[in-house]
Amino acid sequence: MKIFAIGRNYVAHIEELKNERPEEPLIFTKPDTSVLLHNRPFYYPSFSSDIHYEVEILLKVSKVGKNIDEKFASTYYDEIGIGIDFTARDIQQKAKEKGHPWTIAKGFNDSAPMSSFVPKSDYDLSKLEFSLRLNGQNVQIGNTGLMIFSFDYIVSYLSKFFTLKKGDIIFTGTPAGVGPVNIGDHLEASIEGKRMLYVDIK
Ligand code: MG
Repeated sequence: MKIFAIGRNYVAHIEELKNERPEEPLIFTKPDTSVLLHNRPFYYPSFSSDIHYEVEILLKVSKVGKNIDEKFASTYYDEIGIGIDFTARDIQQKAKEKGHPWTIAKGFNDSAPMSSFVPKSDYDLSKLEFSLRLNGQNVQIGNTGLMIFSFDYIVSYLSKFFTLKKGDIIFTGTPAGVGPVNIGDHLEASIEGKRMLYVDIK
């Protein structure tokens, strides 16, 4: 199982981190050991002092495909979920300054908490509202209508370089409002107002 993630897919988030708007999706991967399931707690790692939350809508690939035409891309995913792309922002910042890969900053153990997946047919994916609460306060509110690159474009683009396989998961980018977590914090991620995932920081 592969996990892909898209960086810089929402304009307001690009602006908050003072990044450049990409001309094509910015792709990185997270290893399978980044997956954190069943609302298990996240243990703050010793190698970072600036772990940030990034709430994102997830797509689950439903069949094998490569070089997928954008107009058929929607037939390659049938379930969605919500996840947090935990990022060691201090390590990422150093990597960015040196032009180094983001592998550690994005791919460390348990950096990808995920909800269970639900049929996409239950939702209007063109304007899906999702949110993240930190200790009961809304900190991120996203709407997929504001993505730079659509789900179908992302699936088509990824499949030019990587054969997609059933069960692969795609993090589709975070909206504005990212920020640090601290030990003792409680995160709750929702789709259309329904809580799908929570994470306690320990
Ligand atoms: Mg992200």
